[in-house]
Amino acid sequence: MSASEHSLSATGRRTKPQVPPMRTHRRHTSAPGLVLALSLLTAMVPAGMPRAVAQDVTAIRTKAVVDVETSSLIEDAVVLIRGNRIESVGSRVQIPRDATVIDLSDYYLMPGMIDAHTHVTIQPGYAQYNPILYKSIPYRAIEAVAAARETLDAGFTTIRDVDSEGADWADVALRDAIEDGLVPGPRMQVATLAISITGGYMNNDGFAPHIDVPHFGALADSPAAIVETLRLQIRNGADWIKLYATGTTRHIDLDNMEPLPQFNDEDIRLVVDEAARFGTPVAAHAYGGHAAHAAVEAGVRSIEHGMLLDDTTLDLMVEKGTFWVPTLTVYFPDDPDATLSPRQAAITGSHRRVFGRAVEKGVKIAYGTDAGALPHGQNAIDFARMVSYGMTPAAAVRSATVVAADLMGLLDEIGTVEAGKLADLVAVSSNPLADVATLSSVAFVMKDGIVYKQP
Ligand SMILES: [Zn+2]
Repeated sequence: MSASEHSLSATGRRTKPQVPPMRTHRRHTSAPGLVLALSLLTAMVPAGMPRAVAQDVTAIRTKAVVDVETSSLIEDAVVLIRGNRIESVGSRVQIPRDATVIDLSDYYLMPGMIDAHTHVTIQPGYAQYNPILYKSIPYRAIEAVAAARETLDAGFTTIRDVDSEGADWADVALRDAIEDGLVPGPRMQVATLAISITGGYMNNDGFAPHIDVPHFGALADSPAAIVETLRLQIRNGADWIKLYATGTTRHIDLDNMEPLPQFNDEDIRLVVDEAARFGTPVAAHAYGGHAAHAAVEAGVRSIEHGMLLDDTTLDLMVEKGTFWVPTLTVYFPDDPDATLSPRQAAITGSHRRVFGRAVEKGVKIAYGTDAGALPHGQNAIDFARMVSYGMTPAAAVRSATVVAADLMGLLDEIGTVEAGKLADLVAVSSNPLADVATLSSVAFVMKDGIVYKQP
C-alpha cells in the first residue's frame, strides 16, 4: 500500500469552519467531528441556497433503484430520506404520513454521478488563447460558478477539480461557497495549482525569451521549490496535489510513443512523500512511459489520461491499487466528423488499446472527462466511448459512482443508494445498466437532500 493510499480512506471530508471570519482550510476530520459540525450547520448557513432540514422526511417513489454494486435493480423501490441522508431503500418501505413524496415512478433512480477530472475554471475556447492574458481571475471564478451549475444539472453531484490553470484559488473559493450554500454546484475536491517545471506543461508557448509571460500553475525546478509550492497549495486549500509528470500531447515522440518526462524520479517521490505528510493524495498527469511508471511506483493515488500506459505499468497499478482516470473523449477534435491528424490518430488509437488492456487486467478506472476542455454540463460524454472500448455499461456506471467515490475517499458517504449515505440521487428514464446513453439526459437531481432538478 502506498503512502498516499490511506490518506483519504477513513475520513475524506471537510468540516464547516466554526468561526466564519477566520476561514482556514477545512481539514479532513473524523466522523464524530462531522456529526458535531452538521449539528451546527443550520445556525451558520448564510442566506442563499436552501438546506436540507435535519428532521424533514422525503420519500421518493421509483420505477427501480439501481444497485450499482451488484448491477441489479430494486423494482418499485421507495427511497426514504431524512434531512440530507438516506434512511431506507426498498420495495417494502413504508412512507410516513408527514413525508414529502416525490413521484419518480417512471424513472430509474441511481447515485449522483462523479466526474473525477474537471476544470471548472477553464472554458473550451481557452485552447485558442491564454486566458491569463485576457481574463481576470474574478471573471473566471464567475464562469466557474456557471460551470458548477451546469455540472450539477447534468447529474454530477461530486467532482474532483484538478488544476485551476492560472485562476489561482478560484477553485477553493467555489468549493467553499458551494459547501456554504451560497451557490448551487457539486461537492468538490480541488487541486489548486498543478506543479510543473520551467519549459514544461503550460510553460512552453514559444514566446521570445525576453517576454515574461505569466504562467499557469506552480513551477518548481528544485526539491526546495517543490516543497515550498506544495505547502503553499495545501495552506491555501488543496485537497489534492496535481503533478504534471509528463508534458503535453505535443511532447509525445510519435516514433516510440514516449511522452516527455518532466520531473526526475526523486522529485516525483518527493512530491508524493511531502503531500502524504499532510494526508494529501497526489494525482499525476502522466500519459505513459517512464514518468508514469515512476509516478505509480512513488505512490500517486491516480494517473490522469494515461493513453500510452504499457502493460508493466498497468500491472503495477493493479498491484498498488492505483486509480486510472482516462479522459477518453477530450483527445478527439470538437467536430466528430473531422478527420484525425496523424498525432490525434496515434494518441486516440493507443488510448483505445490501453483502455481495453486496463479493463482486462482489472485496473481501477475512475470516471473523469476533462470537462472545461470539453463543454461543461456534457460530463456524461465519456460513457459511450468506455462501452465501445470494451467496458460493460454496468462497469461504466460503477466507474462514475463507487470507483470514483473510492478514489476520492468518500465511499462511506456517496457512490451508492444506501441507508446512511448522503442523499445524492439522480433519475433517468431508462435502465443505465443496459443503456448508458440515458445518462446524458438526467431528469432529476438531488444533492445533499436538496432537489435541484425535477422532471
Ligand atoms: Zn485536465
